[in-house]
Amino acid sequence: MVALSPFSIMVLVFVGIALLVFGYGLFTAPAARRPAAKTRPRGKKGDPGVCPVCGTLLSSGEQIKSALFPGDDDRICHVFGCPHCHPYLATGVVRTCPVCKAKVPAEGYLVARFFERPNKKRHVHILGCTECRVPKRKN
Ligand SMILES: [Zn+2]
Ligand SMILES: [Zn+2]
Repeated sequence: MVALSPFSIMVLVFVGIALLVFGYGLFTAPAARRPAAKTRPRGKKGDPGVCPVCGTLLSSGEQIKSALFPGDDDRICHVFGCPHCHPYLATGVVRTCPVCKAKVPAEGYLVARFFERPNKKRHVHILGCTECRVPKRKN
């Protein structure tokens, strides 16, 4: 049986790391050349087509998940998020409340008022999130 000296073990470890780095470079190089593969463009919250929770600019067909409660012209709306932040958070995406700037937990949502203006223009006004709108239980 040939016992490896600590030095040769070190060399083997080094070669292993070098191979790993080389392999990693090979693996990630094509992905780096493809733009917008992972991180999605961000927009200004409040603009049309921008998720009010995480600020991701949505492409056509991607919808914001929300619940609209019955009412007349002024209704309460719960905004859960877009496909990039609800129910699973995509890498580099942060769910924040546009009102209190706090992080909105995965099970949290934004509370908004939903109006339909006389000219049929729909308007959503974000009031806050589950962190700043829902009263906390006092012990
Ligand atoms: Zn989102
Ligand atoms: Zn909030």
